[in-house]
Amino acid sequence: MAEHRFFIEPSVVADDRVELSPEVAHHIGKVLRLAEGDEILLLDGSGNHFRTEIDQLRSGGGSARIVEQWHATEKALPIRLIQALPKGEKFDLILQKGTELGIGRFSPVSSGRSIAKAARTEKKLARWRRIVAEAARQSRRPLLPTCDPVEPFGEAVAGSQQELKLMLWEEGSMPLAEALPAGPPTDIAILVGPEGGFSADEAEQATGAGFIPVSLGPRILRTETAGFAVAAVLEYLYGDFGANP
Ligand code: SAH
Repeated sequence: MAEHRFFIEPSVVADDRVELSPEVAHHIGKVLRLAEGDEILLLDGSGNHFRTEIDQLRSGGGSARIVEQWHATEKALPIRLIQALPKGEKFDLILQKGTELGIGRFSPVSSGRSIAKAARTEKKLARWRRIVAEAARQSRRPLLPTCDPVEPFGEAVAGSQQELKLMLWEEGSMPLAEALPAGPPTDIAILVGPEGGFSADEAEQATGAGFIPVSLGPRILRTETAGFAVAAVLEYLYGDFGANP
């Protein structure tokens, strides 16, 4: 049986003890019905693993005692998904599925033709990070992907430092395969437009910042599909998709 695992803040680890947040304690006690003495695996998001025994469980929290600790990371290619905010709850799906596929960083951006409103995104950010943590837990990632606050398109694009930067643009003329190097890049950024696509002006800004505009072929994919398709291809070619676990 798979062990029960949870992400924790690195700051709650002290000596041989880990403090459990009310959320984790609730999940452990009320949902999984585990009790004092049961084992759980706690991860700090950066690769530190703590095998622990539940020490104390209260309604507002609890604690666990560290039995064993080790560091393990993953071989996923670091992918940053710069995603124009889609309508409604679609970004939730992108975070969940993207985490399963191995994306390491999500950067929502507001772009010219975005229909989504960037309002109240602070509250959303906390929710988005919870979605990522739950998906990382469920898919057993040793590392916790990050989610940035919403940024304007121009700033996110200008601030991208990845070795390979791809802009998915249906009007671009270079096929994806031609933009991909033979050897694995250290990291990759994928830029995906909103429902309405990118404007020519945005495409120019992106190419100016070193993004290669690539086409995915004859079919137009929805904004929430495009990033997944490319992430899967990249993790297969350069990362750990299909690899021996
Ligand atoms: N506005 C366009 C489609 C936008 S699709 C139209 O209706 O014609 C949303 C986003 O998905 C695009 O901005 C692009 O980033 C990506 N995308 C979808 N299909 C693509 C393709 N065939 N090639 C490259 N990018 C694609």
